[in-house]
Amino acid sequence: MKTFKIVCPECSTVNTITLEAYDGTMNCSQCQVDLDNPFPIEVNDESCTTHITENEIPVLVDFYSTSCGPCMAMYEDYEDAALGFGLQVIFLKINADKYQQVARRYGVSSLPTIIAFKKGEEVNRISRQLSQVELDIWAKSLI
Ligand SMILES: [Zn+2]
Repeated sequence: MKTFKIVCPECSTVNTITLEAYDGTMNCSQCQVDLDNPFPIEVNDESCTTHITENEIPVLVDFYSTSCGPCMAMYEDYEDAALGFGLQVIFLKINADKYQQVARRYGVSSLPTIIAFKKGEEVNRISRQLSQVELDIWAKSLI
């Protein structure tokens, strides 16, 4: 049986999905929310760590701050890019002013910084504002 793990966007419960039993819909075993979430997930230090380490789907993390111009300018592009990926790539956003633990752990020193992870391991990172097209190409390269 082929299974994969996916973290709930709402309650951060780790769900194990059996591919054979997948009928097109997937709901969290804990809170019943649809796991196929098309929007970037706003995370804190704790849920960000769970998503990075437990998801068996590639993860992008956008470290931003509300006082950073380029971060805010990228807001919609990041959201639009996420729409195209569903369960292929998980898009996370973390407010690095409010939550500093994860940013410190990965040595994030400028904003915005976007880091790609696969099964808990950093694949690569870019520290500047990206367009929707750039995000799209990057996310596709992770699948
Ligand atoms: Zn849940």
